[in-house]
Amino acid sequence: MDFLISQNYVNYVCQCGLLKPLTNLYFCRHCLNLRCSFCCHHEVDSHFCRNCLENIPSSEAKLRKNKCNSCFDCPSCSFSVLSARATTIQVPMTVKEKQEGEESSTTTSEASSGKMVAKKMYYLACLACRYSSRDVGISDQASQNFCWPEQEYMHANRFNTILNYYQALVLHDKQVKQDEKRRKTTNKSKFQSMTDRTGLNVSAIRRQMGFDKTVSKPKNKPASILPSMTEEVEELSEDIFTKPINLKNITTIEQRFTQPANQPESVKHLYPQHKNLSIKRSIRCRHCEHNVIKPEYNPTSIKYRIQQFASSHVPEVRIIKCYPLMPNKSAFITLKLTNPTMNDMTITIMELPTDDEEVMMIDEMKKNFESLTVSSKSSLMRPSLIEDPRIVSCKPTAKLELPDSSFVINQRDDSAEFDDEIQTDKKDPKFVIWRKANKIAIELSITPNDLKVNDEVIVGFTMHYTYSTVPSTTAEKKDSQQRHALNARVYLNVGNIVDYSTK
Ligand SMILES: [Zn+2]
Ligand SMILES: [Zn+2]
Ligand SMILES: [Zn+2]
Ligand SMILES: [Zn+2]
Repeated sequence: MDFLISQNYVNYVCQCGLLKPLTNLYFCRHCLNLRCSFCCHHEVDSHFCRNCLENIPSSEAKLRKNKCNSCFDCPSCSFSVLSARATTIQVPMTVKEKQEGEESSTTTSEASSGKMVAKKMYYLACLACRYSSRDVGISDQASQNFCWPEQEYMHANRFNTILNYYQALVLHDKQVKQDEKRRKTTNKSKFQSMTDRTGLNVSAIRRQMGFDKTVSKPKNKPASILPSMTEEVEELSEDIFTKPINLKNITTIEQRFTQPANQPESVKHLYPQHKNLSIKRSIRCRHCEHNVIKPEYNPTSIKYRIQQFASSHVPEVRIIKCYPLMPNKSAFITLKLTNPTMNDMTITIMELPTDDEEVMMIDEMKKNFESLTVSSKSSLMRPSLIEDPRIVSCKPTAKLELPDSSFVINQRDDSAEFDDEIQTDKKDPKFVIWRKANKIAIELSITPNDLKVNDEVIVGFTMHYTYSTVPSTTAEKKDSQQRHALNARVYLNVGNIVDYSTK
């Protein structure tokens, strides 16, 4: 049934007005609202290599250009990691080895020159495509932890100059801005400085004495770099169009893109590539600055310290069945609703808000946010820019007949997960077909508008549900558990209009 989710047949409206499947949304426990990825800050928590699981501090990761020192990606197939393979070769005993041998044992006197000894050597190989570092002429190394020779890039110097120039430029701009800010704040100050009996503040005295460095120091813009000009373009060889090419020796586009600095044309230049680092990121609600996702710091752990996925707080809607849809003719759809929380939920299905109501909702949200920014100005964590709320772009193309009463979905019970028994409750209203543990199936009637054949039929409704904040472990705090009435707007793509003339 998961394919229904992956193809986005059921979409929820984020508070910003974007439609997203439930699995792509987060739920902020403090604002009690759905949040999409645009409504959240994304912060990099830590860098790590997903092959050797080494945790790398972000400053070091920057120096290493976000690459792992010890792991290499296969440049040929680019989905496998190269592993060091050991091999033994016969090498003539060197003079140094002989001397060492003489110190340790007495039998070395007979180890004359020309005697061969076995030596362990290492090379890198891909177990998926049989690529090896020997293919491109990298000599074997004596130790597998030995630094493999770094590839040299043609334009490395040029890139470094450009990088340094722009870093200097950013620094310069920052300084100019800071100076401007400082000047503005001193002008704005309404209060007399009480630093001196003469009424002169320190900066005024400094200026009088000619010590003021902020004025005298001119801010030099970094010298601009020369544009790279190609003086000479190599002529194409004459046989370029006539020489038959061997496709086995030419790299594919993907292989070239994995080495953006070099982009080799021939497979002879496919050098092992340092593995890119991965990140762990935490996600923060933009409205209240609380975390909705916070992973464990340790790269070996896949757990979260905070995880507020919407799918574990908001009832999930899935389409089970839909009868053939024809314009202006009612048809039944069967929906399955799942309660993911540990508390019973009362659900009421209501009409979607009209356009005017939606505009009012947006205005109210903006006002709330502004008041929030004013009240929290003193605190360090200031709500930042939020995604501008908008009216939902999707418009329903069918009328949904609303159920006449609300219904309750039982709490999630992991032990009842394996019960096959379908419970029927006589108190349930008619539209409830069956219920099983924390799931319920309801049948609703829809009437598509005057649509053409193959037009998409979209229905929407507001799902009003009760949500209880997670009870704390201590018994006395359990009473403080709060119940909230929340709304989620759901849009369903129930299918296309069928050609009824042939039926
Ligand atoms: Zn959003
Ligand atoms: Zn690594
Ligand atoms: Zn490979
Ligand atoms: Zn929030």
